[in-house]
Amino acid sequence: MIQRTFSIIKPDATERNLEGEILSRLQKSGLRVVAMKKIHMSRAQAEGFYHVHKERPFFGSLCDFMCSGPVVCSVLEGEDAIAKYRELMGATNPANAAEGTLRKDFAVSLEANSVHGSDAPETAAFEIGYFFNALEITG
Ligand code: ADP
Ligand code: MG
Repeated sequence: MIQRTFSIIKPDATERNLEGEILSRLQKSGLRVVAMKKIHMSRAQAEGFYHVHKERPFFGSLCDFMCSGPVVCSVLEGEDAIAKYRELMGATNPANAAEGTLRKDFAVSLEANSVHGSDAPETAAFEIGYFFNALEITG
């Protein structure tokens, strides 16, 4: 099934100029970039994006981190895009991430783990709509 998912290249990765390397891996896997923009989120935008985590102890620090520098937001399209991109990303904690995954190779820490990806169709729909309007999505 052709699906769409939402990706963020997080501030720790843009800081190290890794956007091209990360996008290249996504494209080599067959995922297509159907929308993309680089933004510097406000604290309020980061809080809204991560609202599902607002009760978690790491919420404040996570929001500070996500608005600490620019991020690259994109919409990825392809066969089983949600699960496929989660597999390419690897486990949340880079210490548990499999060899060859983005987080294994690039993450700095559990928080600064280089990439975000939607975890289900409902979250993908919310996250895509949070950053992109219909006219900004191609394909
Ligand atoms: P994922 O990004 O793999 O879907 P979660 O949705 O559980 O993981 O968490 C969102 C983000 O919050 C993670 O990618 C990571 O940046 C951060 N995070 C998760 N758990 C922790 C934690 N225990 N301590 C600090 N940051 C965390
Ligand atoms: Mg998540």
